[in-house]
Amino acid sequence: MSQGLVTAAYIVSALCFILSLAGLSKQETAKQGNILGITGMAIALIATILNPETTGVQWIILAMVIGGAIGIRLALKVEMTQMPELVAILHSFVGLAAVLVGFNSFIDLHPQATTSVVVSAGSDLQATLEAATAAFNEAAKAAQHAQLTGAMLNIHLVEIFLGVFIGAVTFTGSIVAFGKLRGMISSKPLMLPHRHKLNLLAVVVSFLLMLYFVNAGGNTFAMLLMTLIALAFGWHLVASIGGADMPVVVSMLNSYSGWAAAAAGFMLSNDLLIITGALVGSSGAILSYIMCKAMNRSFISVIAGGFGTDGAVSTGDEEMGEYRETSAEEVAELLKNSSSVIITPGYGMAVAQAQYPVAEITQKLRSLGVKVRFGIHPVAGRLPGHMNVLLAEAKVPYDIVLEMDEINDDFEDTDTVLVIGANDTVNPAAAEDPTSPIAGMPVLEVWKAHNVVAFKRSMNTGYAGVQNPLFFKDNTQMLFGDAKDSVTAILNAL
Ligand code: NDP
Repeated sequence: MSQGLVTAAYIVSALCFILSLAGLSKQETAKQGNILGITGMAIALIATILNPETTGVQWIILAMVIGGAIGIRLALKVEMTQMPELVAILHSFVGLAAVLVGFNSFIDLHPQATTSVVVSAGSDLQATLEAATAAFNEAAKAAQHAQLTGAMLNIHLVEIFLGVFIGAVTFTGSIVAFGKLRGMISSKPLMLPHRHKLNLLAVVVSFLLMLYFVNAGGNTFAMLLMTLIALAFGWHLVASIGGADMPVVVSMLNSYSGWAAAAAGFMLSNDLLIITGALVGSSGAILSYIMCKAMNRSFISVIAGGFGTDGAVSTGDEEMGEYRETSAEEVAELLKNSSSVIITPGYGMAVAQAQYPVAEITQKLRSLGVKVRFGIHPVAGRLPGHMNVLLAEAKVPYDIVLEMDEINDDFEDTDTVLVIGANDTVNPAAAEDPTSPIAGMPVLEVWKAHNVVAFKRSMNTGYAGVQNPLFFKDNTQMLFGDAKDSVTAILNAL
């Protein structure tokens, strides 16, 4: 394949990626968007393999076969509720790849260094490291004259340094996000003393190291020290973010992984990787902004690690008075006597896979002349658009699925609200309690309806770890049990 054809193929892939993003912005066109994305990636992979400049094709194909097999197995095995974890761990791979590409580009700058240090058994580790550092530094200076010079070398060194920094932050940050989403790490924010000063220090020291790194024409010690700082910084940044702010973190790490890929593209002089990385980086940044707006949080405060929160975290399990229990038969009766119903689904609907009976109950109620609509909170579930995906999967008509802003004023005139596995997204404490960790976050104001039925299995808290006063209100009844079983029982009673 000639170089010109490779470039043409890259342009076609880039166009496919742009059209894919456009398609993914609407439910109706999301499937085409996905297909375009897959097509773009397939073209990019084939063009890269057939590129005359590509060497070691057999290794690339072997890696693709192994990686592809693992990917297919994981994708087939993963539950919809585990998707956010999968996305988080995939982001960590992009970060790690950027770090490895960065180190490789650095080593490539001065290949002599790799042969000039001999480690013999029993040699002192410190002496060996010093010898390696000296050799790298020597070689870097040589490279300044031999390969790249002046401004070009400096730009390349900055690319390497920034690429490794962003990659390392993305790597550990995504691992913590994975742990939090999987429940392996507490979703409560880590509140180290002087945490903002620590973050600032990490950024300032890394910046100074970058200046030193560039001035020295590449320096192994500065590179290694920055990598360690960036790894710790990424870890701390995400660990200090509370559960309710996790949606912003997930989209922010998505954005970081894009910038890390773009940085790798600069290091490898690969235009398509730069374009793709920039697309992911900027769309992730826009998504983070939308999420922040939806949650009434400032972007800076969230990415600075919970900046602006006072660290007050509810113990979560305190009871707030009496709650009333109800049965599936009673709820069926209530629904039959209602003329308007709003269903607000949350993460519990995804866990229970209750979307299918929910779609059936919707159809049944509509056939009985009841006006049924859905109210979707932007951060319901564990993934942006999580509820929309589930409802679309169960073939709930799009026109009765409304966003929070579109439906919030209608609760007052609604007879019955079914809160199916939602908790934080319908918590009145966000509006009423300024000390709550979710204070200020706009929520679905379900408590304004005449009757509320909350479907859940226990009085446990939601993801943010705060108790929900909604469950103790006079107009709320609790229907305990798995959401799928409860909805099916109501359907049978109808
Ligand atoms: P929550 O996580 O607040 O609450 C889910 C509720 O579902 C729980 O109270 C749980 O109660 C109940 N539940 C769980 N399993 C079942 C089941 N099988 N049957 C019935 N009920 C069940 O959900 P929301 O959707 O309201 O809020 C989402 C939260 O997740 C927000 O805090 C958001 O910030 C956060 N988040 C969102 C992300 C996103 O991108 N959308 C990403 C990361 C975090 P019980 O155990 O008693 O059954």
